[in-house]
Amino acid sequence: MDLGLAGRTVLVTGASSGIGLATVRYLADEGANIVSCARDADRLVDALSTIVGLDSDRVFTGSCDVTDRAAVETFVGDAVGHFGRIDGVVCNAGRSLMARLPDTADDQIREEFDLKIFGTWNVVRAAREALAASTAGAVVNVNAILSRQPEERLAVTSAARAALLNLTHTMAGELAQDGTRVNSVLLGLIDTGQWRRRFEDSETDLDYDAWSAEIAADRGIALGRFGRAEEVAFHIVTLLSPLSSYTTGASIDVGGGVSRYL
Ligand code: NDP
Repeated sequence: MDLGLAGRTVLVTGASSGIGLATVRYLADEGANIVSCARDADRLVDALSTIVGLDSDRVFTGSCDVTDRAAVETFVGDAVGHFGRIDGVVCNAGRSLMARLPDTADDQIREEFDLKIFGTWNVVRAAREALAASTAGAVVNVNAILSRQPEERLAVTSAARAALLNLTHTMAGELAQDGTRVNSVLLGLIDTGQWRRRFEDSETDLDYDAWSAEIAADRGIALGRFGRAEEVAFHIVTLLSPLSSYTTGASIDVGGGVSRYL
């Protein structure tokens, strides 16, 4: 199936590993041009250079912290200057904070809301005009099932994700007047750098597969395993596609059956 993304330009924040990188792999196959930023630009360039068939003239990268509004505006402005357009935005950059509320410092709470809210809004706001000029403007916010199903061990992250889900609905309404669609993917536990880092810090005697299977069982994941980055990327790319032209304000669960809500 032709997803209608060939020749379009898509900005994916945080594509140096995990879900962002898997999304760029799909987009590269579809013939899209790629714009991406991360704080460590060298690691980003190295990661994107592993994608077979993605020539450097189809890629624009830079170092940029998505919580820094001025830096995001400069980066997005430069990207629009380079390709002349942005048709899609994937707000993916981020991480989560594994901590219970009493163990979380005030600065960590502020940082978490900063990352989830401004790390998304800074990017969408900077790209808004370019998206409005596209015939297929679309935003996908990478969020989590925690936004609807909070966990005590991820207390502040859950609250910040709920705020982002709420805001995504508002954005979908606001940007509809520009012809831009805004949707979310809500993730469960996905095997990426985040979980590999937690495994390394865990001091477990288990290997990674056994360790992650134990967590999957503990969390009650119906499919009994973590998800793979490409299983998320598929949905992101589908939501970006102009074939999804009547879908906005929606969220797709990608959690292997971990959600308990209807
Ligand atoms: P990874 O750690 O594999 O990748 C994160 C990417 O984001 C990296 O490219 C990183 O690069 C970049 N990044 C992080 N912070 C910033 C920042 N402030 N500004 C710019 N870039 C940044 O993570 P995942 O692929 O697992 O996660 C992708 C998204 O999915 C995140 O928002 C995460 O919170 C969310 N998510 C993931 C889940 C999972 O189980 N994996 C579950 C639920 C949500 P650099 O460090 O160089 O900046």
